[in-house]
Amino acid sequence: MTAKVIDGKAAGAAIRQAVAARVGEFVQRTGRAPGLATVLVGEDPASAVYVRSKNRATAEAGMAGFAHNLPDTTSQAELLDLVAALNADDRVDGILVQLPLPPQIDAERVIAAIDPAKDVDGFHPINAGRLATGLESLVPCTPLGCLHLIKSELGNIAGLDAVVIGRSNIVGKPMALLLLGESATVTIAHSKTRDLPAVVRRADIVVAAVGRPEMVRGDWIKPGATVIDVGINRVPTEDGKGRLVGDVAFDEAAQVAAAVSPVPGGVGPMTIAMLMRNTLVAAHRRAGLADPEGL
Ligand code: NDP
Repeated sequence: MTAKVIDGKAAGAAIRQAVAARVGEFVQRTGRAPGLATVLVGEDPASAVYVRSKNRATAEAGMAGFAHNLPDTTSQAELLDLVAALNADDRVDGILVQLPLPPQIDAERVIAAIDPAKDVDGFHPINAGRLATGLESLVPCTPLGCLHLIKSELGNIAGLDAVVIGRSNIVGKPMALLLLGESATVTIAHSKTRDLPAVVRRADIVVAAVGRPEMVRGDWIKPGATVIDVGINRVPTEDGKGRLVGDVAFDEAAQVAAAVSPVPGGVGPMTIAMLMRNTLVAAHRRAGLADPEGL
């Protein structure tokens, strides 16, 4: 079997286009554009690249962007003051504080200080709890993007076996809850899981969110499975530039799976598209409007 390569770039672009169209409607109804504030502390090159793409996508969607770039000497109190100001600013519907933060700052305290209604990353304990209890929430962008890809491939996933490898608050746990919400039979695997290959071999749906280059091998995959690769790992190359690979050995998995998402070009573009979607949704809820349909 040669798997279909899941095109996250195209799926992400379609969502961003749909968001841009709804932004126009929102502006007509409310007289203002949805606003996203991004906060980057320090100069981590990968974080700077991510934040730049998020700011660009915000502008392309016709939303108002408020970019805050702070030095890596920023204190916890200064960052909390900025978050409080953004919470109070009516033009701001979404607040994204890029992680990781420098060591003098407690990321959990900062996340907890964000107004849950503006928490477009979906990391606030209130949103995590609402997702876990099946209430309306803002859902973390990466797992939301993965679910979109899975449902685009498979439609109804009720009763299918799903294995999520990784249990982080950002990806693994919310991913498992989203799959459970769709009535999949969900297993969460992690570093203490025994015989991981055998666990993965049961899965109709595999989501790998580990951070270990090409750990998931082709012979771990059940024939015909759908494989979503969240991992982003830079591995060395002879020219010294390095190359991005996922957590799945793509060429091997593609021999066995029905569909597999590539790295890059799979989950990454979906994460940014879902950030735009979450900002639009947050703006609607804050304006007392129903959620935009079909997003
Ligand atoms: P974390 O490091 O927070 O979590 C990794 C998880 O993998 C942990 O639960 C850990 O288990 C588990 N794990 C580690 N080693 C093994 C192993 N040998 N076998 C089984 N499980 C293992 O990472 P994140 O969830 O934040 O990110 C995961 C990957 O996804 C990274 O490569 C990251 O760069 C990427 N990512 C990509 C995004 C995108 O937009 N495409 C967005 C966010 C992340 P334990 O809990 O037991 O330690």
